[in-house]
Amino acid sequence: MEVVPAALARLIHDFERLPGIGKKTATRLALHILRRPEAEAQGMASDLAELHAAIRLCDTCFAFSESNPCLICSDSGRDGQVICVVEGPGDLMAIEKTGVFRGVYHILHGVLSPMDGIGPAEIKVDALLARVKKGGVREVLLATSSTVPGEATAAYLVECLKTLVTVSRLACGIPLGMDIKYADEHTLARSIEARMIRK
Ligand SMILES: [Zn+2]
Repeated sequence: MEVVPAALARLIHDFERLPGIGKKTATRLALHILRRPEAEAQGMASDLAELHAAIRLCDTCFAFSESNPCLICSDSGRDGQVICVVEGPGDLMAIEKTGVFRGVYHILHGVLSPMDGIGPAEIKVDALLARVKKGGVREVLLATSSTVPGEATAAYLVECLKTLVTVSRLACGIPLGMDIKYADEHTLARSIEARMIRK
């Protein structure tokens, strides 16, 4: 006998389709929403319903935005000559949280992964090259992940961009607060290669 009411089962199923959510968590979330006042569920439902209509991609940097160009691209206080290239919108948010980057962004919406059939045409590479070729760009900072596809994407972009503009890459190294003897050898090797001269 099915003990879960159909409407609740549908919501559990919806949550289960989200990344990182298993059946247990999905059930807990759905029951939580059911126990809360109906207005909260209505609010969530209308937020979800309006999401796609309210948000679009910025034509310049491909960030999710309610305006086009986005708030960052249209901010005259930012340095439009320095473009930070990231894999996805979450990376932009993480870098913005640091408050130290005052340039603009270019979101690839993916990384090169030939095994999965993702080549340059599947991510926003051409748009990046067009942006740089248009001129007025001093530096492109490659901030893709230090994973195999992230590094491959960075290496590909270096080849495409090195004759056009100064290309930099995020430094990789020992996390703050970490004891050096516990760092893995690849991280330690990269830290030595990317070492900085202190004056
Ligand atoms: Zn933008």
